[in-house]
Amino acid sequence: MRYLSTRGDSRNPSSKTFTEILLGGLAPDGGLYLPETYPQVSRAELDQWRGLSYADLAYAVLSKYIDDIPPADLKALVDKTYTAEVYCNARIGDDACDITPLRWLEPGLGILELSNGPTLAFKDMAMQLLGNLFEYVLEKKGEQINILGATSGDTGSAAEYAMRGKHGVRVFMLSPHGRMSAFQRAQMYSLQDENIYNIAVRGMFDDAQDIVKAVSNDHAFKAKYKIGAVNSINWARVVAQIVYYFKGYFAATQSNDEQVAFAVPSGNFGNICAGHIARMMGLPIGKLVMATNENDVLDEFFRTGVYRPRGTAETHATSSPSMDISKASNFERFVFDLVGRDPSVVRELWAKVDAGGSFDLSATPFFAALPQFGFVSGKSTHADRLATIRTAYEKYGVMVDTHTADGLKVALELRSVGMPMVVLETALPAKFEETIVEALGRTPERPAGLQGIENLPQRVEVMDVSVDAVKQFIERHVNA
Ligand SMILES: *Cc1c(COP(=O)(O)O)cnc(C)c1O
Repeated sequence: MRYLSTRGDSRNPSSKTFTEILLGGLAPDGGLYLPETYPQVSRAELDQWRGLSYADLAYAVLSKYIDDIPPADLKALVDKTYTAEVYCNARIGDDACDITPLRWLEPGLGILELSNGPTLAFKDMAMQLLGNLFEYVLEKKGEQINILGATSGDTGSAAEYAMRGKHGVRVFMLSPHGRMSAFQRAQMYSLQDENIYNIAVRGMFDDAQDIVKAVSNDHAFKAKYKIGAVNSINWARVVAQIVYYFKGYFAATQSNDEQVAFAVPSGNFGNICAGHIARMMGLPIGKLVMATNENDVLDEFFRTGVYRPRGTAETHATSSPSMDISKASNFERFVFDLVGRDPSVVRELWAKVDAGGSFDLSATPFFAALPQFGFVSGKSTHADRLATIRTAYEKYGVMVDTHTADGLKVALELRSVGMPMVVLETALPAKFEETIVEALGRTPERPAGLQGIENLPQRVEVMDVSVDAVKQFIERHVNA
């Protein structure tokens, strides 16, 4: 399997293998990597996959995309990743570990639990695999990487828990000093692993993000200190997420003749992009229900054909903060397919986006073809999410977090008779206590291992907003 760039020149493709793109971010031309073609899953394979464990299913799916890691090694990496130890600690009072269990709320409506990993959010599903892949590939190449990132919550902790203790990897994670919840701070700062460095900058998330950009734009520094990233455009994260669409489909159906709808709380479009690819592979997904919060740049596109990324000033801070995104980094992958995989069209559209503008496909045949891709969309407000959290609790006896509530709200509006609707759970309510208290007047239960983590000793370096200070910190610790 070879990978190409969404902005590449198709007459002169400089395609790459999986391990060649694993450690990098964007393609050199500024595009995102995608496989040359989507591997197809035959009916016979689907029948056979139906009975597989999560790890075996992950191996079956990933083998179609990764052919430059020996099969036995890939199998070992997958088996080491998708274990009960990693994915079954969080679920309170659940003995049978199914990695991603499907919980029915009522006939035809279920929640696929994806947040039972170490940081209580679905990002663990892919990030844990990424940690093992990085370690394996770095060791083969005899290389090291220093991951530099900025976080306001979920991504940073998922990355740290995936990379902790991994050979050849250090993580330098910037966060805004005093701006995360006590729980989020404790999750990250209580890690004592030598290869994990938490840096709290005296500023906002955007200041932290700007430092990361400035350091990455210093090409000499970046090369000398092998600076890398694990952001949501990483192809390995997308491909790992394809697996649970298959798993969820099998759990929701009796036979491979049925269709399933998936509702996906979306921000950077990584999660639902994996659903789109699963569908392109031949998984019978009837509908992909894309749900946003008040930051509705994607909902607007699916309704109108206009993609208008917002600036920071126009981005709302909401009660589903992991979806507070004004520019959806993975969206370019879907648009590449929508425009018939013509990189010249993508280049033209993103020339506008990269210049701070927008594009409008409403009058094009591309927009007319949108229904073929199965997408429908909707959004929620804070009041909607509170109401949905209450409904889920009172009617179904289930506590959902604010992001999953967004997905459930839109799912309830857009479901159709005869097609099961599966809502993807993207975090546990324990991560967003405040809003749960606001909705239900009670605190969510915390998984046993995480009780009192706020009292553990913390390891964090507090700094002013200074690119040089961060560079010096990295130099000191890489050379130590
Ligand atoms: C990251 C995240 C999302 C958004 O997922 P995308 O892949 O960026 O669309 C939704 N909910 C939670 C809890 C998240 O952490």
